[in-house]
Amino acid sequence: MSESDDCLFCKIIAGQIPSSKVYEDETTYAFNDINPKAKVHVLVVPKKHYANVAELAADDPTELAHIVSIAQNIADKEFHGAYRLVFNTGLDAGQTVFHVHAHVMTGEKLDE
Ligand code: C5P
Repeated sequence: MSESDDCLFCKIIAGQIPSSKVYEDETTYAFNDINPKAKVHVLVVPKKHYANVAELAADDPTELAHIVSIAQNIADKEFHGAYRLVFNTGLDAGQTVFHVHAHVMTGEKLDE
């Protein structure tokens, strides 16, 4: 069994676990967070499995830039281009799912 066989977000991308899809293309999938921390809270994930943002940046910086542009597009639509982009990295930073995901929080004025 490979690492990704047991990965929650790989299963969401494959449609084996339901999600509220916001966007999809060949390399990337985005869906609403089930426990939103802002009016609009979307997770943007590469379809290829990487444990965290450092692994993604090292292997495929183009995909990382693509994730940022998807975040920007969501915020342009939802809140005049204003958003917070968070990659929790490591257990002690609050990462609970070890398939890299960008938290895009927007849709309202955010607390500082
Ligand atoms: O950064 P972290 O790893 O903690 O983020 C995982 C996120 O995945 C959480 O915000 C959680 O609400 C979300 N999640 C989800 N759908 C699931 C399981 C977790 O949106 N089925």
